[in-house]
Amino acid sequence: MLFKKVTTPEVKTIALVAHDNMKPALIAWTTAHADKLKPHRLYATGTTGSILESQTGLSIHKLISGPLGGDQQIGALITEQVIDMMIFFWDPLEAQPHDPDVKALLRLAAVWNIPVACNVATADLLITSKLFDHAFEKDVPDYQKYLSERT
Ligand code: PGA
Repeated sequence: MLFKKVTTPEVKTIALVAHDNMKPALIAWTTAHADKLKPHRLYATGTTGSILESQTGLSIHKLISGPLGGDQQIGALITEQVIDMMIFFWDPLEAQPHDPDVKALLRLAAVWNIPVACNVATADLLITSKLFDHAFEKDVPDYQKYLSERT
């Protein structure tokens, strides 16, 4: 695969997702960092987004619920390069009915070089990074070159 440089902007679009057992941890994390998150654009799967909005007062663009396709919607937004960062507290101790979607979402985040936090420690590192509020460059797949090599 050939790559190109893109700039992740100062104001980021951040996806927030938590499986049911992990929702309390994401609520606590989002509440603790509400001031830092506020200037950014926030997206979430349906239930996570509704709970976070009511508990934190942050404005969140809500997709459909994860098991009904919300993870796939976030994956699609990653391929469209809308999402810049993802906080995804998936549950390591309980099987999920939409496990294929979870796997697909994590795969697309890796393909598109998205900073992802799957636990509180990593989320804390991301939000305290000096790049959290600054633009930075990263590599993403170069689809035009990929296409021209194959056609
Ligand atoms: P939910 O989905 O926010 O609608 O609960 C999360 C998920 O399980 O992916």
